Amino acid sequence: MDCIFCKIVSGDIPSARLHETDNFIVIKDVSPQAPLHLLVIPKKHYDNILDCNESGMMDEMMEAAKAVTKTLGVQQSGFRLIVNTNKDGGQTVFHLHMHILGGKKLSEKMGL
Ligand code: 5GP
Ligand code: ZN
Repeated sequence: MDCIFCKIVSGDIPSARLHETDNFIVIKDVSPQAPLHLLVIPKKHYDNILDCNESGMMDEMMEAAKAVTKTLGVQQSGFRLIVNTNKDGGQTVFHLHMHILGGKKLSEKMGL
């Protein structure tokens, strides 16, 4: 499958991993929308959350976000987690991922 995140997971496309668990990697977004913009990406391909029925994976995705925000020291200032899903949700890469945004006071409008 021609999937850019599968290539990042396999290492075919090199990227620095800020955090890694058994099933996830955390990398910087190539086109940051905030001073801190990370992606939590499962090593296994799922098109999006609708394609993933393993609740343990969702738990691990959240735990990875909590761990990396702790390491980076942004928990107290705060951050936002986003999972864009399908067209109206703004999903452009169809390999499940969660955005971590922070490093500034984010808009209260949340893109509505
Ligand atoms: P989506 O719009 O699907 O929720 O988010 C996809 C995100 O992946 C975008 O924020 C985009 O900047 C990011 N992205 C796309 N290609 C690459 C890449 O090759 N490397 C990294 N690090 N991020 C990417
Ligand atoms: Zn993939």
